[in-house]
Amino acid sequence: MMKTVEVLFTVFKKGKFPIDYLSRISASGSNLDEAKERLKKLVPEDFVLILTYYRSDYGIQAIKDTGETDDIAIRKVETRIPRNAKIVSKKLTVKGTSRNIQVSVTGSLKEALDEARYLIGPSEVVRTGRLVSPATQGIFGVGAKKAVFLVNVGQMAVAEAVYETPVDLTGCVGSEQMKNLIDQLKEWYKAEALKNSFLFLPDKRCEECGKPLKNNPFVTPNHVLCENCTNLFLGTTNWSLAIKHINLHLGPGVPKSIIETSERLKHHKKNIE
Ligand SMILES: [Zn+2]
Ligand SMILES: [Zn+2]
Repeated sequence: MMKTVEVLFTVFKKGKFPIDYLSRISASGSNLDEAKERLKKLVPEDFVLILTYYRSDYGIQAIKDTGETDDIAIRKVETRIPRNAKIVSKKLTVKGTSRNIQVSVTGSLKEALDEARYLIGPSEVVRTGRLVSPATQGIFGVGAKKAVFLVNVGQMAVAEAVYETPVDLTGCVGSEQMKNLIDQLKEWYKAEALKNSFLFLPDKRCEECGKPLKNNPFVTPNHVLCENCTNLFLGTTNWSLAIKHINLHLGPGVPKSIIETSERLKHHKKNIE
C-alpha cells in the first residue's frame, strides 16, 4: 500500500494536473467506514476523491463443508477460509460416525457397497468394505453360499467456520473537473434507472455482481448495476481513450451536457501538458 502512495506522489509532483485523469489509491479496514476514513487521509493535496469501490466480499461470512471424518471436514473448511480473514469460530456441527454392517451378496465388493446403500440411515454414507468369507458354489447349486462383506458406513462430519474479511477499498482521485464528469455520468445512469420502476422492486439484482440493488440502481447503456459496480466500471475505464470519443466508449446516448464537459476536460488537459 505504501508503494502505491509513493508512486502516486511522484506522478502528481510533475504538475498540478494528474498525468492520468484518474489515479488509484487503496486502503483496507475492518468495515467500509474505517477503510473509507483511511482512504480519505491518502488523498493528495489539490486532488479530490472521485469514487471508491471494492472488488470482493467483505464482512462476516460462514462456510460449511463435509468430510468422511471430523479431521477431513475441518481441514476442508480451513482451506476455504481466505488468507486475510479473521476467524470468528470454527467447529464441527455434526460429528462423523462409523459402524460396520454385514452384507451378503453373490457378487463383488461393488455389489456389496451398492447393497449397503439400502441398509443405512438417510444421513449416512457408505465408505469401504472388505470380504469376510468368499462365496462357495456348492454342488449343483446345493450348499451354495453367498459372499459376506463387512461394510463401513456412517454419518459424514460437517464442519463450519465463521470468519470476517476486511474491506480492500480502492479510491480514484483526480481533478475537480474530472469529479464533475463522473458525477454527471452517475446522475445520467440514475436518471435512466428512474425510468424503470421495476428496478426498484426488492428482488432486483445487479447484473454484474448479483447482489441486491437495494433501491439504488444505475442503468448504463449496457447494464443494470449496483453503485459499487458502477464505480468499479467508471474507475477502471481507460479515460485517456474514453475522453477522446466519450459517446463511442460510454454511449450510445451520452447526454450533450456530458459530452461538453468531457470536451472541456480534454482541452484543459491538453493546455497543461
Ligand atoms: Zn454490482
Ligand atoms: Zn471524437
